[in-house]
Amino acid sequence: MASEPEPEVPAMDQSLLECSAEETAGKWLQSTDLTREVYQHLAHYVPKIYCRGPNPFPQKEDMLAQHVLLGPMEWYLCGEDPAFGFPKLEQANKPSHLCGRVFKVGEPTYSCRDCAVDPTCVLCMECFLGSIHRDHRYRMTTSGGGGFCDCGDAEAWKEGPYCEKHELNTSEIEEEEDPLVHLPEDVIARTYNIFAIMFHYAVEILTWEKESELPADLEIVEKSDTYYCMLFNDEVHTYEQVIYTLQKAVNCTQKEAIGFATTVDRDGRRSVRYGDFPYCEQAKSVIVRNTSRQTKPLKVQVMHSSIVAHQNFGLKLLSWLGSIIGCSDGLRRILCQVGLQEGPDGENSSLVDRLMLNDSKLWKGARSVYHQLFMSSLLMDLKYKKLFAVRFAKNYERLQSDYVTDDHDREFSVADLSVQIFTVPSLARMLITQENLLTIIIKTFMDHLRHRDAQGRFQFERYTALQAFKFRRVQSLILDLKYVLISKPTEWSDDLRQKFLEGFDAFLELLKCMQGMDPITRQVGQHIEMEPEWEAAFTLQMKLTHVISMMQDWCALDEKVLIEAYKKCLAVLMQCHGGFTDGEQPVTLSICGHSVETIRYCVSQEKVSIHLPVSRLLAGLHVLLSKSEVAYKFPELLPLSELSPPMLIEHPLRCLVLCAQVHAGMWRRNGFSLVNQIYYYHNVKCRREMFDKDIIMLQTGVSMMDPNHFLMIMLSRFELYQIFSTPDFGKRLSSEIAHKDIVQQNNTLIEEMLYLIIMLVGERFCPGVGQVNATDEIKREIIHQLSIKPMAHSELVKSLPEDENKETGMESVIEAVAHFKKPGLTGRGMYELKPECAKEFNLYFYHFSRAEQSKAEEAQRKLKRQNREDTALPPPILPPFCPLFASLVNILQSDVMLYIMRTILHWAVEHNGYAWSESMLQRVLHLIGMALQEEKQHLENVMEEHVVTFTFTQKISKPGEAPNNSPSILAMLETLQNAPYLEVHKDMIKWILKTFNAIKKMRKSSSSSSVAETEGTIMEESSRDKDKAERKRKAEIARLRREKVMAQMSEMQRNFIDENKDLFQQTLAEDASHSAVLDNSPVVSDMTLTALGPAQTQVPKQRQFVTCILCQEEQEVKVESKAMVLAAFVQRSTVLSKNRSKVIQDPEKYDPLFMHPDLSCGTHTGSCGHIMHAHCWQRYFDSVQAKEQRRQQRLRLHTSYDVENGEFLCPLCECLSNTVIPLLLPPRNIFNKLNFSDQPNLTQWIRTVSQQIKALQILRKEESIPNIASSKNSENMDELQLPEGFRPDFHPKNPYSDSIKEMLTTFGTATYKVGLKVHPNEEDPRVPIMCWGSCAYTIQSIERILSDEDKPLFGPLPCRLDDCLRSLTRFAAAHWTVALLSVVQGHFCKLFASLVPNDSYGDLPCILDIDMFHLLVGLVLAFPALQCQDFSGISLGTGDLHIFHLVTMAHIIQILLTSCTEENGMDQETPAGEEELAVLALYKTLRQCTGSVLKEISSGWHLWRSVRAGIMPFLKCSALFFHYLNGVPSPPEIQVPGTNHFEHLCNYLSLPSNLICLFQENSEITKLLIESWCQNIEVKRYLEGERDAISYPRESNKLIDLPEDYSSLINQASNFSCPKSGGDKSRAPTLCLVCGTLLCSQSYCCQAELEGEDVGACTAHTHSCGSGVGIFLRVRECQVLFLAGKTKGCFYSPPYLDDYGETDQGLRRGNPLHLCKERFKKIQKLWHQHSITEEIGHAQEANQTLVGIDWQHL
Ligand SMILES: [Zn+2]
Ligand SMILES: [Zn+2]
Ligand SMILES: [Zn+2]
Ligand SMILES: [Zn+2]
Ligand SMILES: [Zn+2]
Ligand SMILES: [Zn+2]
Ligand SMILES: [Zn+2]
Repeated sequence: MASEPEPEVPAMDQSLLECSAEETAGKWLQSTDLTREVYQHLAHYVPKIYCRGPNPFPQKEDMLAQHVLLGPMEWYLCGEDPAFGFPKLEQANKPSHLCGRVFKVGEPTYSCRDCAVDPTCVLCMECFLGSIHRDHRYRMTTSGGGGFCDCGDAEAWKEGPYCEKHELNTSEIEEEEDPLVHLPEDVIARTYNIFAIMFHYAVEILTWEKESELPADLEIVEKSDTYYCMLFNDEVHTYEQVIYTLQKAVNCTQKEAIGFATTVDRDGRRSVRYGDFPYCEQAKSVIVRNTSRQTKPLKVQVMHSSIVAHQNFGLKLLSWLGSIIGCSDGLRRILCQVGLQEGPDGENSSLVDRLMLNDSKLWKGARSVYHQLFMSSLLMDLKYKKLFAVRFAKNYERLQSDYVTDDHDREFSVADLSVQIFTVPSLARMLITQENLLTIIIKTFMDHLRHRDAQGRFQFERYTALQAFKFRRVQSLILDLKYVLISKPTEWSDDLRQKFLEGFDAFLELLKCMQGMDPITRQVGQHIEMEPEWEAAFTLQMKLTHVISMMQDWCALDEKVLIEAYKKCLAVLMQCHGGFTDGEQPVTLSICGHSVETIRYCVSQEKVSIHLPVSRLLAGLHVLLSKSEVAYKFPELLPLSELSPPMLIEHPLRCLVLCAQVHAGMWRRNGFSLVNQIYYYHNVKCRREMFDKDIIMLQTGVSMMDPNHFLMIMLSRFELYQIFSTPDFGKRLSSEIAHKDIVQQNNTLIEEMLYLIIMLVGERFCPGVGQVNATDEIKREIIHQLSIKPMAHSELVKSLPEDENKETGMESVIEAVAHFKKPGLTGRGMYELKPECAKEFNLYFYHFSRAEQSKAEEAQRKLKRQNREDTALPPPILPPFCPLFASLVNILQSDVMLYIMRTILHWAVEHNGYAWSESMLQRVLHLIGMALQEEKQHLENVMEEHVVTFTFTQKISKPGEAPNNSPSILAMLETLQNAPYLEVHKDMIKWILKTFNAIKKMRKSSSSSSVAETEGTIMEESSRDKDKAERKRKAEIARLRREKVMAQMSEMQRNFIDENKDLFQQTLAEDASHSAVLDNSPVVSDMTLTALGPAQTQVPKQRQFVTCILCQEEQEVKVESKAMVLAAFVQRSTVLSKNRSKVIQDPEKYDPLFMHPDLSCGTHTGSCGHIMHAHCWQRYFDSVQAKEQRRQQRLRLHTSYDVENGEFLCPLCECLSNTVIPLLLPPRNIFNKLNFSDQPNLTQWIRTVSQQIKALQILRKEESIPNIASSKNSENMDELQLPEGFRPDFHPKNPYSDSIKEMLTTFGTATYKVGLKVHPNEEDPRVPIMCWGSCAYTIQSIERILSDEDKPLFGPLPCRLDDCLRSLTRFAAAHWTVALLSVVQGHFCKLFASLVPNDSYGDLPCILDIDMFHLLVGLVLAFPALQCQDFSGISLGTGDLHIFHLVTMAHIIQILLTSCTEENGMDQETPAGEEELAVLALYKTLRQCTGSVLKEISSGWHLWRSVRAGIMPFLKCSALFFHYLNGVPSPPEIQVPGTNHFEHLCNYLSLPSNLICLFQENSEITKLLIESWCQNIEVKRYLEGERDAISYPRESNKLIDLPEDYSSLINQASNFSCPKSGGDKSRAPTLCLVCGTLLCSQSYCCQAELEGEDVGACTAHTHSCGSGVGIFLRVRECQVLFLAGKTKGCFYSPPYLDDYGETDQGLRRGNPLHLCKERFKKIQKLWHQHSITEEIGHAQEANQTLVGIDWQHL
């Protein structure tokens, strides 16, 4: 916005500039009251420099401030010219070995996963590259701003704390050396003075709260009357709201409002109005009024300009201090001293305290300036870091409360500095012991969660929005707790023990408030009305998970602490559940002669809670007792006798029963909240401190009690006691059909209970429970994940729990259990389970979800079948329990267990009478298997003379006791082995029996002799017979099944063909047309094939039949029949462009007749090759249009295509299209009048054509001025002697049917409309030019692709390409028939004149500025318009040939002029051939014509080589062009790959293979032409070096080179600042992969106007760089972005992969990323093929959400 220049400013500047820094400093040095002196200076000058108008002038202000305000301070400080003083200080300084670089937003940071003490320890890129960690496993992230490099901090790194650069500084450091010794005394004194005054000034003015009054010592007399209306930032109002309000309140444009809003968002405040008080006050009231409706209003203050001025200078001053202390550690120390010195008001009055305590009152910009100063001063000085940490801890409670009530993001709060302090192990330890930090944090946290229920538990129900907001902010305290705990102590002092346990107490208080929170009661009857709040409680649990784990880790480190913690935890648990047996009468349970008392409690009827953190913590500590062997070493110190196992197991058991009942469908009416809770309970994020610990708690309980008692209590809690204690209960149930649901429910409950028993006995992979280590645990997790399916690294990581360092421990073991398979061009790298690990698979692995379990079962059975093994999945061999848990195994052989097994087997044997399920049986079999494995292990490991007490085999051989008198378990198993209804479990039963026999054998052999051997063999033999019959039966079943499947398959296939009829018919038709071509080829194959000219190979006419994909009718392609069309997509293209800066400025005036050789602004045509009737397409398109209009009215949604622009999707393949190309026969055959008379040579032909042109021009002139001076007219007429046989009045009849004519016009107009971006106008004379241009450009682009990929020119092209090129060429050749003859003739004449001089045209480009292939196509395709009036007997073929030769000659001259300048010394070794001599001669002629400006070249060999290389692309394009134009098959030699097709090409194109012969054969005209070409002024300028020209062959365009390491891109982007908002970091830096420009995307600041709309930087760039098509890399997201036009776009997978073959879109995982060249090539290929738009179309069709994105704002 234009601001009024203030007239007095220059004068003012002058007086300010005269102010001398040296003199001022001198005055200060003399002064007795320095403070007063300096304040006066500031009071006088600051308002004269800052805030002189509505807008800041940062550069001028900075310059003046430096001169008038800071300069004197520097002089004063140094005592001399600072230009000498500071370098001296720097030299004397011993630089710190700390890097301390403060990160910018988006800057890459690195953390070493091997050596970093915790993940918050990071390095800057420079340090990282110079450190040992670059070869370690590292993680890369982008900084969110704030934080600094930890290089040099010995506490942050286990190894390699210094990079190469900072290592240098460590050699001479003596610990705790005072940096002040390097400073002269006087400097110290002066620095102290000036720092004290300035720091004090800055703090005072920044925390100043009055709006129109300055501190007394800064007030001046002549105060101006100017105010600012200052708008402050908040996180409540959106950008849009602010912009809208501002426009209203201060009457500014939208652009200005955007500017204000951007600054407010960035700096935290911005003045929006400048003037007298009422003027500003008025704006304030409008803003407040407008924003106070829904929320609290925006903060606005009317401030006196002098206050704002001083505040601005205060900020400047803080930055200045930050930079001054950078040059000397001594100065830094003085500043720290000044900052922390206690003020006059005692406690909390130091400047640092004052700033911290005012933090939440300051605006964003001020906060970040002083935070940065803290980081570069207090946190960089080892001594003061400690003192500052103490201040921070003392203020902790207050700072956190301020933060919680403040609404700014965490990164703008001083509370965020906790990460810098608490993660330093020595500081954290010190703060714990001296300041009791643990307790303070936990207490502060509890203080903010005040909502409790009657039992004192947290209550989140009915949280208001504000409370929820606060709750989110309070969570950052948990993060602080995590920081403090993250590095574990290596040594314990008594102090530390005491303070840690004090913190542990507080922590238990916190957990106590969570124990039993959110209790639920089963809903019966009707569904719950409102889903209860559950997320808050789970959020809390989830956030605390790592803290709980770390608390245990700490306890594990010290035996005394562990014992105390265990006692405390137990005590709290007893408090929680004290009296849980009170009042109620216990019930007595008894089965098999065992009985136990328990409380009455029903999960399905009473309250139950999932939250039991105290129980779970105790379980964790109990395991530690076992793991650390404290339990055996100091049993007397432990309260083990106080433990009541039934109490311990009660609540975890309830929770597990709840899960089982939910699974059984009993809690359906409680809604989704419960389902979600159960989900998270088992989820990888929570399970470690929830589900896992509940299992451990049950294991703990069971190991301490009689297993029979436990089982009975369990039956009772599962509400199954009755079923198992009442004989025939199951039978009775099943007979009551009405209770089918109940039967189902009970079956599920029994299954779940058995599953729980399996888990209790089988889950011993937790160190301390079983005799395993952490590696075994993680290995087992991975084995089970990979048993489901092979997985990518990231998938695997996601399925494993992360520790507080974000590590899963996976890398250390993965090699041992899995093979890695590399990814291909798409997809990801995969880990596959090693086959030898399959035996460790446990079907009932406790972390499987149900879906995973069944998938794993299926996969493992399939694997076994593939290996031709039986399909039994027996339980794996397990590691032994630790002694504390050892008695757990007895549960398997307990009476009640055997009773349960027997009962279920009995149901299965009598399978019709009872309610039972196969999964029930499967679990029983698994349990039996586990018991057998256990017994086997016991026998194998038994010591001499020890009695094995595990006697499961004996127990299952015994029959049941009265009253059932059921057979033994073994007998029942043998019965079941042959049960036909248990096919699936047969292998498992067989395995059980085999194992049973093996154990028996072991027992026998170990006990005495080997009598029983035979028994086993008999048994095996009989089973072998059975096996045989069995196998036969199975084979029969398999055969029947196969037949059935086959029948189903063929039925499906038929349906498929019916549904996709079009597709099949299309393929058939294509096949047919192909064979037709092949059949015909032998006819012509004997002769040399010639594509053009009088000698063109005559191809027998082929009839072509095609089928319409819409109506399925077949039709022959004929001149007079209805038009058939191909769906086509026309787009502008810069893919071949050599000059991206060139854009069509004014499309209405642009003349496309001559294409410049830089090939900018091309038009490309592509097609999917699908054929329709023109009328069928019309009808289809009309219906799409109508549908779209209706839809838009209704839904206002975008689609992936823009109907208004003629776009549609191909009805068959959904390929994006915007027009259609008619299908035509070779058009030349229609016009080629056969004529065998002598044809003219080139010279004669040129002469004839020139005459004809002249005649036409005269006629044309006459027509344009018909009535003026008829006499002159007749004169001209006299002059005009019509060449022989030329009849300009003749107008040929158009041979095409109306329908074809219409399509010719349609496609022509579409090309014109898209290519020039203008409104369609079929009359425009440029329409035919655009058609020819698109034909030429498309052929050129395909030639490029083929050459780049080293593919043969006429190799097998994809059908769609072949069809597209053929139709496009023939269309372009036929288009003249629907254009005005005179227009086409006019084009021809002008094109012709560019080569054969003609006086009538003055403005033709010189031959250096013409793309010869475009010229050739234009001339050849326009020529019929002239030739049709020529009846002299010259054939069309002759014309084609001469045109082609003429253009070729021009191209050779073009190449000789531009591309043969370098002679590379390598002279020919063979004697000069014919070509070399000829080209040398030609070059000499050329030199003569150019007046010898051309460099002398003596090597014909070199010249010929250059010509050949330069002309190849042209010849190839020409061959394609004439091939498709005339339909002459290509010579077989060019259909195969090979390096040298030059001669074959020449033959095919009717050229002498010594191209120079063209010149020799036509020597009369050659000289004239060359002379005329070289005489052109532009050519001369070029030869004199005044301008450039394209040289040949043109190189292919490539996407930019990307670095191998992705982090260098991030670094590059982090140094990139928004080009529009003065040095600000861009939030979404985006790299154009086509030209390498970095853009500031997705941001208001860089929006530009495009065609009247505001668009983002990418869209704007796309418009010029890719004429609408863009390929970008979003650097922060590591994501490729494709854009097309303003409304289309999609994301594409980036070409960067990590070591595991995966991309990291969004950079969430942080693994190092490296360029995958193949994938990048694939993107480049999409670009070369012009397929970006198509790719977007497909992506948008597949994913509708992409359609909704506002791509234009990117
Ligand atoms: Zn660094
Ligand atoms: Zn370093
Ligand atoms: Zn390392
Ligand atoms: Zn049709
Ligand atoms: Zn298609
Ligand atoms: Zn920007
Ligand atoms: Zn670009």
